[in-house]
Amino acid sequence: MKKAYIISTGTELLLGTTMDSNSVYLSEKLRDIGIKVIGKSTVGDSRIHIKNAFELGLKSADIVISSGGLGPTLDDLTKETACETMGVKLEIVEDELRKLEEFFKRRKRAMPKINKKQAMFPQGAIILKNHLGTAPGMCLKTGEKLVALLPGPPREMKRMYLEELEPVLKNEFELEKNKAIMKTIKVLGPGESQVEEMLGDLMEDNRQYSIALLAQEGEVHIKLTVEGQDFNDSQAIMKQITDEIEKRLQHNVIGYDDETLALKIAELMLKQGKTLALAESCTGGLLAKMITDLPGSSQYFWGSATSYSNSAKTAILNVKTETLEEYGAVSEEVAREMAAGILNNSAADFALAVTGIAGPEGGSEEKPVGTVFICLLNGHGQDYQVKKMSFVGDRDAIRALSAKTALDLLRRYLISGGVHK
Ligand code: ATP
Ligand code: MG
Repeated sequence: MKKAYIISTGTELLLGTTMDSNSVYLSEKLRDIGIKVIGKSTVGDSRIHIKNAFELGLKSADIVISSGGLGPTLDDLTKETACETMGVKLEIVEDELRKLEEFFKRRKRAMPKINKKQAMFPQGAIILKNHLGTAPGMCLKTGEKLVALLPGPPREMKRMYLEELEPVLKNEFELEKNKAIMKTIKVLGPGESQVEEMLGDLMEDNRQYSIALLAQEGEVHIKLTVEGQDFNDSQAIMKQITDEIEKRLQHNVIGYDDETLALKIAELMLKQGKTLALAESCTGGLLAKMITDLPGSSQYFWGSATSYSNSAKTAILNVKTETLEEYGAVSEEVAREMAAGILNNSAADFALAVTGIAGPEGGSEEKPVGTVFICLLNGHGQDYQVKKMSFVGDRDAIRALSAKTALDLLRRYLISGGVHK
């Protein structure tokens, strides 16, 4: 899916005197043709802020669309600034200059010199006609990116978008052909065959969509492909089938497409204003890595202790020597004491502790390789849950599964409002 970034320019939008309706309109229209808006900026009539917005847009999206600042006055800076950002020069386009002169002639007014800049465009730009005002828009491809500039007045912007820009976008990105759309639904908890069972009749042959299941590092990915009459039809079918899958799988759905478990945790922790501390044994810091791979995690992540040896468990986490001797390092009791230990040393709301046997050595009949205990402790309620898992796989797989299961335990607790599910 192509990604777009929208920029609304105009100081009046920042003062609260004018509502930025242009970006709302554009978001809706772009969504309808299958372009994903990934962000937007509202900036005043300032060169530096407009430039920053274009730089960010060009860095993060395939398409950047701005509105406003195409007029003739000194505070209309969008075109100059966008072209400067793209590294292209503006030149007079004779045809456009003539049109502009005629516009003033018809109104029996002399054309102010300052209006001349409205007839300047970079080489290779598609000039977008303005039937309702003097400021033409433009569209330029630089490398793989497409930049489009539209005027600010909503009537002018809408007509120009519909009549001039949308056809260019459809053509450029072959959107008409994009009838088929895809989505991945990520599931954690039930195995592949269980998921298949839960989906039941949805898995049956169907002309409108197809479902494929893929086991991926402990998760099951449901790959959905929908092909309707056209893009809109495909989207409607996709929504229907996604809703139905969600109804059947409930809390087992961890996210869509490129969403990860760590991202879900971030969203939930930030929303609920909670913080987390970790005590890791067999995962050796993997959980902390998964969390801190996301920028901004310091807002909800207190930190972690990698207490690999027994003496580290006692020294850092106050796990009792008697507990270690009586139950062994891989036990429910030690997992609980690890969680309690890190929580006592931190100001966090939650603690997750993991202790297990990642192999290949170290297993016993009673506790084979893959035996892992995970404890989630809610410090405030002194409310805890311990899960005993028996994973199958090599060392890397067992560690990855342990970390994911720990995060998932917390995710389920957070989404169900403090109930262990
Ligand atoms: P003009 O030639 O009229 O100056 P322009 O392209 O320079 O056009 P602006 O000067 O930025 O556009 O905006 C003109 C008017 O359009 C603003 O006064 C405002 O009322 C409206 N407008 C601008 N941007 C938006 C927006 N994002 N949402 C809603 N209205 C807007
Ligand atoms: Mg203006």
